[in-house]
Amino acid sequence: MAHFVIIGAGQAGASLVAKLRSSGFEGQITLIGEEPVPPYQRPPLSKAYLLGDMALERLFLRPESYYAEQDITLRMGARVTSIDAAKREVHMGDEVIPYDQLALTTGSSARTLPAAIGGALDGVYTVRTLADVDAMAGEFTAGKRALIVGGGYIGLEAAAVARKLGVEVTLVEMAERILQRVSAPQTSDYFRALHQSHGVHIIEGVGLDRLTGDARVTGAQLGDGTHIDVDFVIAGIGIAPNVALAEAAGLAIDNGIAVNVQGRTSDPHIWSAGDCAAFALRGATRRLESVQNAIDQAEVAAQNMMGAGADYAPKPWFWSDQYDVKLQIAGLNIGFDTIVERRDPTGDAVSFWYYEGDTLLAVDAMNDPRNYMIGKRLIEAGKSPARSAVADPATDMKALLKA
Ligand code: NAP
Repeated sequence: MAHFVIIGAGQAGASLVAKLRSSGFEGQITLIGEEPVPPYQRPPLSKAYLLGDMALERLFLRPESYYAEQDITLRMGARVTSIDAAKREVHMGDEVIPYDQLALTTGSSARTLPAAIGGALDGVYTVRTLADVDAMAGEFTAGKRALIVGGGYIGLEAAAVARKLGVEVTLVEMAERILQRVSAPQTSDYFRALHQSHGVHIIEGVGLDRLTGDARVTGAQLGDGTHIDVDFVIAGIGIAPNVALAEAAGLAIDNGIAVNVQGRTSDPHIWSAGDCAAFALRGATRRLESVQNAIDQAEVAAQNMMGAGADYAPKPWFWSDQYDVKLQIAGLNIGFDTIVERRDPTGDAVSFWYYEGDTLLAVDAMNDPRNYMIGKRLIEAGKSPARSAVADPATDMKALLKA
């Protein structure tokens, strides 16, 4: 009987094994994860779960019983030490697991502040795993002073939770503006104003020089020379793909574990999907750091491990919740040169439409699920409405889908 082994039990690994079974794979499946819990959703970690609004059980993608019912061997709290690609073996210390096909869904790790600048002091946290969030939960009490380093989604979502719980928040972003890596200036402006209206002190274009304190962090020296007193620190400074196992096994690495359009690595028996996998997209080798990509790419890889020969075509979408604003993003804005703004004259719905020339690339929609859905369908259909039509409040947006 064929044995498929999957290393990494995050969203991609969990989606991959489920797809194998739902597609009729009857061989042996082993899913190996380093964390001591069944696969869980990460998005709520920096939102509802951090706020204390979501029970642990609701984080799990499926109940633990699912894996036994589906005859999937789930190895939790287990660490793979190496892969012998020539012999088709996975090693966990002395234990050797032979495989016919292997998938690497090893995900990514939060970048940490260097110990040399105080990153290892007590009271300094990252937001990536359940254990990370459980460790910091007790810090979120009214009146404490938090420094958030990094104005990406992690930093901003953590800031929103902290303010809701009465924590004083200073957020420093090294780049010129928050969300610079992922969005247009208009979206940065929207979220800067939102956070400022909730009392977050946002400092852009300034990094962190060092954290101060003996065993525990008590202060921070910022790049502009100011010193602030802090009670705890959250670093939301990006992620790095987990490629060490793949690299040691001799697989090609290029900004991540290099895969082709089918999810196959440079070894014909090894596949990869999710945050750790890098593939050709819009003229570069890219990784897509999103739940959508983790699920869809993993499902394609699962089918291809069974010989389907299917290509992966990303249909990117993202979302973020901050205070009472729901941001929904459709498409990838890489290469945009123009932003078209659409505002609901009666409500608070706003959307920013990214164009490259006359081609619609992406939409950021704030409290505007209708235009998000219309934008998503337009992009997926390869349709690009005239920019003037999108900007005109009188345009019936739904009609654009039929044009
Ligand atoms: P991110 O999007 O890479 O943002 C990190 C930000 O921190 C960047 O703007 C970075 O600036 C800045 N930074 C780095 N070092 C810094 C320093 N020393 N001082 C001040 N600023 C610094 O990553 P993230 O927010 O940590 O999120 C991690 C991953 O989770 C990402 O893939 C993100 O998309 C994902 N995530 C997504 C959602 C969502 O979709 N709603 C929510 C949470 C997390 P530079 O770019 O200049 O380095």
